[in-house]
Amino acid sequence: MSPVLHDVIVVGGGPAGSTTSAFLARAGRRVLLFEREPFPRFHVGESLLPATLPILDRMGVLATVAEHGFQLKHGATFHDQESDYQRTFYFLTNKPWPSYSYQVRRSDFDALLLEHASKQGVDVCQPATVESVAFDLDGVSVAARRDGLPFTARARFLVDATGRDGLIATKLGRRERIPNLGKVALFAHFRGAERAAGRDEGNIRIHVFDDGWFWWIPLASDLTSLGCVMHARTVRRWPGSLDELYAEMIRRCPRVAAGLVCGERVTEIHRVANFSYMNGPLVGDRFLAVGDAIAFVDPIFSSGVHIAMQSGELAAGAVDEALADGRFTAARFAPYERAVERGLRPFFRFIHKYYEPAFFEVFLRPRTRFVLEAVLSVLSGGAFLKMGWGTRLALLVLFAGARVNLWTRRRAGRPVESRLEW
Ligand SMILES: Cc1cc2nc3c(=O)[nH]c(=O)nc-3n(C[C@H](O)[C@H](O)[C@H](O)COP(=O)(O)OP(=O)(O)OC[C@H]3O[C@@H](n4cnc5c(N)ncnc54)[C@H](O)[C@@H]3O)c2cc1C
Repeated sequence: MSPVLHDVIVVGGGPAGSTTSAFLARAGRRVLLFEREPFPRFHVGESLLPATLPILDRMGVLATVAEHGFQLKHGATFHDQESDYQRTFYFLTNKPWPSYSYQVRRSDFDALLLEHASKQGVDVCQPATVESVAFDLDGVSVAARRDGLPFTARARFLVDATGRDGLIATKLGRRERIPNLGKVALFAHFRGAERAAGRDEGNIRIHVFDDGWFWWIPLASDLTSLGCVMHARTVRRWPGSLDELYAEMIRRCPRVAAGLVCGERVTEIHRVANFSYMNGPLVGDRFLAVGDAIAFVDPIFSSGVHIAMQSGELAAGAVDEALADGRFTAARFAPYERAVERGLRPFFRFIHKYYEPAFFEVFLRPRTRFVLEAVLSVLSGGAFLKMGWGTRLALLVLFAGARVNLWTRRRAGRPVESRLEW
């Protein structure tokens, strides 16, 4: 291991860690990044948002991503089995972000970002696991293990990009489970599944049905990622194997079953459980957290990678400034903390509301262009950094419409209970 004292140690080489470290290295900072897994490694979270592309551009990696041959994504199609209503949202063309994004195999995408970080000058130590961190007045010491051998490294600042592991939260802070969002996802890749034609080929499809919802993500090379998200209770009560449960859920969602008639499963069935939490603290003396190490609520709007990369870029700016003036107190990172919390808010609000049938119905049928544009801003990830008054007002109109619809549904005797209880 290099005896050089680094400016920053970044723990975790997913999108959040690669982004933070690449931006810091481009600013001339000495960065050491630890990643536990050898890449390429499998990871869930394959659908990207349009507002992520300008971040890739500022990082200097957009051309490499564009040339890789990932599946283009122009929109998102939602289907509600209860009403058999379907709606496709296409990303807008008049925004500061493009009207498309990519569906990516995360093993390839994450490896490409980490390689880019390395090319920017980041020292990547992989595979190596950080086991503990200790802060003092001058910096941070990290105890890690590589090939079974322990070693230590030291820097002036630490960035926790460990994703759901939440290094700081589990060792020094807290993790709060978000009530009712205790969900389980079962997912796999298929070859030969149904493909839409033309511009719709890469749309993510979301199928909402009685037991939960499916994501259907068309990837390049005729692969399709299919995941079923359901309540943890459904999995606990299921008497058979997970493979049988996955097959049963496909059977209960005829649109998905029909699309798989010619599909052949080419991976094992993966399982991710209990993915909703808020970690704390987000910032501290000589550390901050980025990406899933901060929080994760729900994958419904494909926002995870965007949040990881946008928080990574913001973090790099805040840490670069701190390195310039040598002050690393938690208080100086309060603007970063506020920016992240503000950025997360629209996603959190949408996600909680999304499970209410009255909201879902009006969400699928925005009455005016004004409301549609606001919905699309959130769905594109564009509302993270800045939400204009027009968007705020339009969202208020949307939420008011959902309240009226709640009343209408109740009077008509239609279900109004939140589907969070699925
Ligand atoms: C079911 C499900 C579906 C999802 N679908 C989508 C989607 O369609 N689109 C989307 O954008 N997002 C999606 N997400 C979210 C997305 O997967 C995450 O938000 C994203 O990966 C977060 O990036 P990250 O860099 O913060 O964390 P990760 O990508 O998890 O990276 C963290 C890295 O840290 C490493 N690490 C952990 N601990 C240590 C340690 N002690 N030492 C060294 N290294 C360590 C890990 O090996 C890992 O590589 C989904 C999530 C779930 C659960």
